[in-house]
Amino acid sequence: MTGITEHLNHLRVRIALAAQGCGRGPADVTLVAVSKGHPSATVQAARAAGLRHFGESYLQEALPKIGASDRDLAWHFIGRLQSNKTRAIARDFTWVQTVTEPRVAERLSGQRPPYGGDLQVLIQIRPAGIAGRSGCPAGEVARLATAVAGLPRLKFRGIMIIPQAGLDAAALRQEYARTRAVFDELQQNGHDIDTLSMGMSDDFELAIAGGSTMVRIGTALFGPRPSG
Ligand SMILES: *Cc1c(COP(=O)(O)O)cnc(C)c1O
Repeated sequence: MTGITEHLNHLRVRIALAAQGCGRGPADVTLVAVSKGHPSATVQAARAAGLRHFGESYLQEALPKIGASDRDLAWHFIGRLQSNKTRAIARDFTWVQTVTEPRVAERLSGQRPPYGGDLQVLIQIRPAGIAGRSGCPAGEVARLATAVAGLPRLKFRGIMIIPQAGLDAAALRQEYARTRAVFDELQQNGHDIDTLSMGMSDDFELAIAGGSTMVRIGTALFGPRPSG
């Protein structure tokens, strides 16, 4: 896969500049390479270029890639969590970024094999203006955080958000500020958390300016996803 190294170098410069712009260093922002829609060969090329964190949204697509990958990679589940998929997710992923309710956290906790170390968990916050099961409502985050933090074999690490599509820069800034406030409040309430996962290809600089410590990037690294 030609291009990944160039894209990565370019991305690293942009991430470093965005971090510098708010008094932080490039090491304060973890880059998760979103490999959904791309084959194992792309993951291997990205690993050769130096990447270690990979994000996948669909379990069936992810499993063969995880199976074929080197053991030093950290796989992040970033898709919708369905109850019948939690066992395989708890077994094969290092991080789950999309926990939205206690019931799913309990399943992941019970199904995490003891040999794997703790599963690193983020709570996905419901974006403004969207109803349904797209995230935990802000008013229920404190309760869910306490539940996650109390479960064995889970390590509560922080908060994740996927903003509503199509927001302009001002609305995105507002959404990221709101998410950061939720994160700060959890910290103030004693949660030992360090991860604020926000920002994708089109808006990661804005997200970093808003306090992001983890960006999830597919297209800007690998180009457009092949169909299927
Ligand atoms: C697909 C996806 C991304 C990556 O999106 P790009 O725009 O390709 O960078 C990030 N986060 C989540 C949750 C995704 O589903």
